[in-house]
Amino acid sequence: MMEKVFNWQINREMEYKYPAARPDRQVAWVFDTNKCIACQTCTLACKNAWTSGKGQEYMFWNNVETKPWGFYPTGYDVRLLELLGAQGWKGDRYIGKTIFESAPYGEEVLGWMPEEEDWAHPNIGEDEPSGQIGEKAAYSLPHLNWMFYLQRICNHCTYPACLAACPRKAIYKRKEDGIVLIDQKRCRGYQECVRACPYKKSMFRSYTGKSEKCISCFPAVEDGLQTQCVVTCIGRIRIFGFKSVWNKPRADNPIDYLIHTAKVALPLYPQFGLEPNVYYIPPIHVPEAFNKQLFGPGAKRAVELYKKAYEDKRLVGLLMLFGSTDKIVHSFKVEGDINNGFCVGYDDRGLEIVRVPIKEPTILRKAYDEEQDVPRLSIT
Ligand code: SF4
Ligand code: SF4
Repeated sequence: MMEKVFNWQINREMEYKYPAARPDRQVAWVFDTNKCIACQTCTLACKNAWTSGKGQEYMFWNNVETKPWGFYPTGYDVRLLELLGAQGWKGDRYIGKTIFESAPYGEEVLGWMPEEEDWAHPNIGEDEPSGQIGEKAAYSLPHLNWMFYLQRICNHCTYPACLAACPRKAIYKRKEDGIVLIDQKRCRGYQECVRACPYKKSMFRSYTGKSEKCISCFPAVEDGLQTQCVVTCIGRIRIFGFKSVWNKPRADNPIDYLIHTAKVALPLYPQFGLEPNVYYIPPIHVPEAFNKQLFGPGAKRAVELYKKAYEDKRLVGLLMLFGSTDKIVHSFKVEGDINNGFCVGYDDRGLEIVRVPIKEPTILRKAYDEEQDVPRLSIT
């Protein structure tokens, strides 16, 4: 028996195994794909923190893949997209079927099971462009041949497929923050969650015979800190915080502003129907149709907005706030104007925790360092 729930990302009701039980606030991430350099620092920071044990050798709760040819596990998304069939949108309303609505008779979710081999190539397709670059090929925007880096963790979905599929009811979503966890005591390793999760972010650990997944660094989050993948990010492409319920966004909440007010950050594959809570600023140099398939119909507008970010001091101020503190920013304010103003972040008690310039100042130094008696290679 399926319940009817509302999914704002596809702007309609849909079927789900359980009644809607939205948490009061939901952990959420925003990743700016345009700034990632695929250094994989996030991947290894996460691995060192959580998955360096026996049976976790090929387990990456965080991975960064190069689209269009990168996948972890191999082909995870294209295989499901093919199974799902036509995925049409009418404006911002999804008119195809979600993976819950297309579940085969007797199952909760339309899914598929990767082979062991599929997990063995986490960096397949890395840095490969979409096609051969022809002789004398000219570049334009979007590029004829392109690639971009897609950062992936568990989405701590509002309607998790892993949770719906678990016959042991070992998976639960915390009411206080929406983090999705697997109770290791209840799990019996049936791997229905691995089959069901379209993002393939629930993984089986043969050494313990149980499934595991990203835990949203909950010990840090409970201490008011952002997750490891965010605080270690070299490119400062990530921000973590708490998202309000979709129809009650708070104007001063950085995450709400990016997702609901500016609408510059979008979910990955909203058509699957899970209401995932990792949001992406889409790449600006990629064909519109590809962005739409990955991030839904809002992608075109988000790209245009991002290109003009300097016209919105709140947006550009927030982009500067990414990666500027390890603490969770609960609210923000912009002081002054774009050229000499600041974006200020506050904790849950309203105390200032970070202040960044909206525009980084450029300091010109003399070409010759008299103190050290050497010429400088870089003077900015
Ligand atoms: S991304 Fe996958 S593993 Fe994570 S909550 Fe959603 S369905 Fe579950
Ligand atoms: S650390 Fe940041 S810049 Fe490096 S791969 Fe991860 S998301 Fe990209």
